Amino acid sequence: MRSVKITNSKHNADSAIILFISGSITLCLLPFCVIRIMQGDWPVAALNVSITTLAFALFCYVYFTYRTLIARWGLSLLSMSAMLITIHLKGAEQILWLYPALTTVFYMLSAHFAAVVGMICLVAAFIIIYPDVNSLYLLTIAATAAITFVFSYAFSLKMHKKAYFFRNESETDPLTGLGNRRALDSKLAEITKKIKTKSLTSCSLLLLDIDNFKNINDTFGHKCGDQVLEAFANVLLKGIRGKDSAYRFGGEEFVIILTDTPLEGALTLAKNLLKDIETTQWDMLENKVLTSSGGVAELDGTEASYEWISRADRALYEAKNAGRNRIVADSSNLDDCAVA
Ligand code: GH3
Ligand code: MG
Ligand code: MG
Repeated sequence: MRSVKITNSKHNADSAIILFISGSITLCLLPFCVIRIMQGDWPVAALNVSITTLAFALFCYVYFTYRTLIARWGLSLLSMSAMLITIHLKGAEQILWLYPALTTVFYMLSAHFAAVVGMICLVAAFIIIYPDVNSLYLLTIAATAAITFVFSYAFSLKMHKKAYFFRNESETDPLTGLGNRRALDSKLAEITKKIKTKSLTSCSLLLLDIDNFKNINDTFGHKCGDQVLEAFANVLLKGIRGKDSAYRFGGEEFVIILTDTPLEGALTLAKNLLKDIETTQWDMLENKVLTSSGGVAELDGTEASYEWISRADRALYEAKNAGRNRIVADSSNLDDCAVA
């Protein structure tokens, strides 16, 4: 029996950058907190201590939860409000903080959200400095802020588009267009969490393997084998519901996640899929019949995703041993209901 291992990712590049930024703000501002307190400059000291505490709180939040969305918003609002309060307390020359604050927001948030937050803060900063500066200075600040704003917006749009493209590419199987192992890992992590927190009542997994696929390669050639895999993926996509998702697990093995579906429903759906596969006209195989075997298992709220997939794998192994072209359900965590 093969061992099935699902990886469990911790901090990724995204959370590492947020940790670096919030950690740097904390460490850089700490000496200023001490200096301002020693100088007795209480308003600025209070501002510095607040920013340092909030930055450290966001650091801890990301460190322990691996979540970045709240931290992104937190750091954006923190940098903008710190900039506005600093200008208010220390005078119009502090408007220079506008530029790093703007770029921070465009780095942290999506381009559209950053544009809204940035625009509100720009207007607020201008209202604060307006009474204290001459029109030429105001015009210079407006022009340089507008250029920074437009370039940051364009850069952010491009960066987020590229990030979306690369994420999509890295989670797609190039041959079939289905999700790959990485996409499956994320889905399994999401589903096991939802079942544990009871935001999803049931979920089943179907592990499907094409029967005697090696013979297809040997008889019709590897290229034809590839065409079969592509067409097989399309048959799966046509046969599943909108709430289900299909992945290429590797080679000629596929995984289908059947959301909101207990074992019994998963069996019915799996058997229908098997029928679809068997009755499809496989032109590239000179209309020879193609069959597959599968194992289904319903997620148990207490198990890890690798245990869930291992149970489906054991059931698939039984289906192969029992003669192929069938589905076996693993009911070891439920009442007995093995079906052939
Ligand atoms: P079983 O019914 O027991 O599953 O037999 P099988 O022949 O399907 O399984 P086996 O594991 O013996 O062979 C799987 C074959 O799938 C071997 C491998 O060359 C082929 N294969 C794996 N990935 C690809 C691929 O991307 N394209 C093609 N054409 N063949 C592939
Ligand atoms: Mg196989
Ligand atoms: Mg096979």
